[in-house]
Amino acid sequence: MSHEPIQTVGQQYRRRSWAEPYKIKMVEPIRMMSRPEREAAMREAGYNTFLLKSEEVYIDLLTDSGTSAMSDWQWAGMMLGDEAYAGSKNFYNLEAAVRKHYTHRHVIPTHQGRGAEHLLSQIMIKPGDVVPGNMYFTTTRFHQEHAGASFVDVIIDEAHDPAVILPFKGNVDLAKLERVLTENPGKVPYVCLAATVNMAGGQPVSMANARAVKELCSRHHVPVMCDATRAVENAYFIQQREDGYKDKPVDEILREFCSLTDGATMSGKKDPLVNIGGWLSVNDDKIAEQARNLVVVYEGLHTYGGMAGRDMEAMARGIEEAVQDDHIRARIGQVEYLGELLQDWGIPIVLPVGGHAIYLDARRFYPEMPQTSFPAQTLAAELYLDSGVRAMERGIVSAGRNQKTGDHYYPKLEMVRLTLPRRVYTQAHMDVVAESVQAVYQNPNKPAGMKMVYEPEALRFFQARFEPL
Ligand SMILES: *Cc1c(COP(=O)(O)O)cnc(C)c1O
Repeated sequence: MSHEPIQTVGQQYRRRSWAEPYKIKMVEPIRMMSRPEREAAMREAGYNTFLLKSEEVYIDLLTDSGTSAMSDWQWAGMMLGDEAYAGSKNFYNLEAAVRKHYTHRHVIPTHQGRGAEHLLSQIMIKPGDVVPGNMYFTTTRFHQEHAGASFVDVIIDEAHDPAVILPFKGNVDLAKLERVLTENPGKVPYVCLAATVNMAGGQPVSMANARAVKELCSRHHVPVMCDATRAVENAYFIQQREDGYKDKPVDEILREFCSLTDGATMSGKKDPLVNIGGWLSVNDDKIAEQARNLVVVYEGLHTYGGMAGRDMEAMARGIEEAVQDDHIRARIGQVEYLGELLQDWGIPIVLPVGGHAIYLDARRFYPEMPQTSFPAQTLAAELYLDSGVRAMERGIVSAGRNQKTGDHYYPKLEMVRLTLPRRVYTQAHMDVVAESVQAVYQNPNKPAGMKMVYEPEALRFFQARFEPL
């Protein structure tokens, strides 16, 4: 993984590396298909990486959602599933783990993060409300708007610029937030504080900023609800970057951060190292009671919320593992390792490197290509053709169309996301990925781009089909 600077000792060079804090005892074979096979697979998939079959992929960096590798301790927990309909002991283990590390008193289990967002939005939002947040997330904003609220972005301006380097690019702009609170008295049910900010590239929020948000909201009697999906990654960045935290363990920083919030929605598919699961946690007794009444309708009884007992046990254990310093250092260290290789080779990526992914700046790969020829879609296809590595388009295709004018949205950022699953790939895989990105970047035969030959009405990036120009 990343190295300390090379020290000269007499004539010798000495470097001290650190490595993944685990060894592997079960493997899943993977295979890179031949170039002609990859070409056929890509044609068949309409040049859309979402339409590839998993078996056709060599290294899968489509997403880090639900793709983590579980530990032997988690798998052992799967065998201890208490599949009682009510009062499963695994629920109480999960509740204890959430209370211990995320601090909130009441824990309502859900099938995944969006289930928790649905409950929270239905309970707290009235039509006409306004929900401020540090950049939107797709499902979170959907549930807020579905419940009748409008979302207002209160993240700092710099978060929208891929070239600005700041340690806490996910911070809330306090002046923006204060304006929303003052202009909408009685209409802000809560402030949504995401840490880290996924859509900004996994950028963190500082403890000082979270504290200031809490103080400001308290003055206006508005609760702070955290999207804690990636809060462990956020805590690690605080440890690395914020004054006064470098000697504190990540789990202590996480507790301090969560104690500045009144509740959280959570996707277990990210930080907590499981393939499915989530929860809503709150301190307020009345909100908890309403959530327990509602969860029965949409998810399952309040002691399983759509999960099997074994899934709750795996998540309870995953939480304990996720907050270990050596785990989170290796997780983010792997992202940084890949980012450093690419930077050293002069490849244009979004900076600073965030907690879960590297974003390639497709415009700088293909400076001549108009955005309407889909540079990021083209780059993702080229990467697969080169090495069987699967990435995701995050550009004009993902942005969709303006429903009124029918024209594309033209986002500033035209990117390809390489997302790292937790504990799944090794440093050698990262080398292969970086070398393939470099080969595509340096390929003198630049592709001409794509045309879209099939476009679905909603969330077109999932199923659109393309042909090379
Ligand atoms: C994935 C994610 C969610 C939604 O969680 P699901 O489990 O996919 O429903 C919410 N917020 C953030 C920041 C996420 O990354």
